[in-house]
Amino acid sequence: MNKKIMCSFCGRSIEEFKKVVSGKEVYICNDCIELCHEIIYENNSDVETDFVIPKPIEIFNRLNEHVIGQENVKKTLAVASYNHYKRILNNSKDNLIIEKSNILMVGNTGCGKTLIAKKLAEILNVPFAIADATSITEAGYVGEDVENILLRLLQKADFDVAKAEKGIVYIDEIDKIAKKGSNPSITRDVSGEGVQQALLKILEGSSVNVPPKGGRKHPNQEYIKVDTSNILFICGGAFFGIEEMITNKMSVGFNKTVSKKEKVKIDHEAIINYGMIPEFVGRLPILTTLHELSREDILKIITEPKNSILKQYQKIFEFDNSNLNFEDKALELIADYAYKSKLGARGIRMIFEELMLDIMFDTAKFENKSIIITEQDTQKYLQKNTKVISA
Ligand code: ADP
Repeated sequence: MNKKIMCSFCGRSIEEFKKVVSGKEVYICNDCIELCHEIIYENNSDVETDFVIPKPIEIFNRLNEHVIGQENVKKTLAVASYNHYKRILNNSKDNLIIEKSNILMVGNTGCGKTLIAKKLAEILNVPFAIADATSITEAGYVGEDVENILLRLLQKADFDVAKAEKGIVYIDEIDKIAKKGSNPSITRDVSGEGVQQALLKILEGSSVNVPPKGGRKHPNQEYIKVDTSNILFICGGAFFGIEEMITNKMSVGFNKTVSKKEKVKIDHEAIINYGMIPEFVGRLPILTTLHELSREDILKIITEPKNSILKQYQKIFEFDNSNLNFEDKALELIADYAYKSKLGARGIRMIFEELMLDIMFDTAKFENKSIIITEQDTQKYLQKNTKVISA
């Protein structure tokens, strides 16, 4: 006699459902399959919000695909960000609370600070926002409130608060809010100290009311509450003249002449002497220094990163079935000029844009062709455009 088929899960017989999947002496009906799918899907949404944190070496290797040089900074940030997200995952499970370690990067303009922070957020797959310390003012002054930084992060997270609360914020030009008086290059009328105090509030981890439409706080506006305890803040600045300040202090302190060539170590004390308040510096326990880019670094930046400027231009030419190439000497000349421009790697794009303008203007000239930019082409162009060098 044929055994009557019944769903092993809900117990209904075959007449009561549309489809059945059979295993060894078990059956499951289409309704139960759907239910299982829902349960699994629900659990998955938890899994999706969980982080899969790449190991420090993996973060470092992926940073290497985009960032030339700055080995120590890449290593420091790989370890710091790994620990930061490990801390987030484990703090809820344990009574021992590991404190947050925000990061301070010191380095001249155009040497990769913003790039490193941005790539780090991409690798970790967390929302990322950039803010400029010079545009922030203390409450009551004309300018941006600190809360707007968090609004930008919220926007990047599509207003998913939980996601934004695990994001990374890069605050550029932090040295420009040093206390007036400590640093003669500061000419702002709004006290840098006040801005540092205002930033302190979000750096140290607190619940902040963010106006969803930006702008100034308004009594009738509904706020979005954002807890900044797990947001990783990375601050960056050039701290122009800090090395001389340290050298001078050493000369006085030890009553000896310190050679200009001697490498000085920039530490937290030096940052405080520069005009950052101790409470603020205390919130940035990880301090890492970027080196100035050499000619060789700049040459590598033109050609090597995954998204290098040369590769980008070559791609544009590929769209017209053309090949674009540069003589090695031509690239060396560009690197040399970018180096002298003192704009770091920022000068590269400027030179490329201008150099390629005439060539790209008349597309018919290069369609289906191979184009080689020679040393002479580049030399001629650079001589004509000395403004690039003196920029
Ligand atoms: P910073 O924030 O230090 O002023 P950025 O990170 O904004 O400098 O650098 C400007 C651009 O120059 C970057 O977008 C990148 O294209 C290039 N660049 C700078 N430094 C590096 C580097 N070390 N490796 C690769 N590209 C770099």
